[in-house]
Amino acid sequence: MRFLVIDDSRAIRSLIIRMLKELGHQHAEAGNGREALDIIANNGPFDAALVDWNMPVMTGIQFVEAARAKPELAGMQIMMITTETEVERIQQALALGATEYLMKPFTREAFADKLAMMGLDKAA
Ligand SMILES: [Mg+2]
Repeated sequence: MRFLVIDDSRAIRSLIIRMLKELGHQHAEAGNGREALDIIANNGPFDAALVDWNMPVMTGIQFVEAARAKPELAGMQIMMITTETEVERIQQALALGATEYLMKPFTREAFADKLAMMGLDKAA
């Protein structure tokens, strides 16, 4: 599977990317939503975007709105990766078209379980 990892923290991107590699997946990375949309425009849709909430330039929720406004990205799943303090806003993200969410901090097992729930467990 092809994943787009979107987070303004390089450390968190690295952590997520390491887990994706261990699970046999491919990835690209972006530091904010705007950069992510540019990468998608240049590389085509990904199977899933893993999206942080708070980022400069374009936040996670703005990315969800922008991505869901594009019919060609309808098949791309979006998982919000968020801290517990942002839990109330999860409903907003799901209403706007996010597929799933995962709370920080998370274990490798929780991450793999979430991907499996989304049907993203097969490396391809
Ligand atoms: Mg952030």
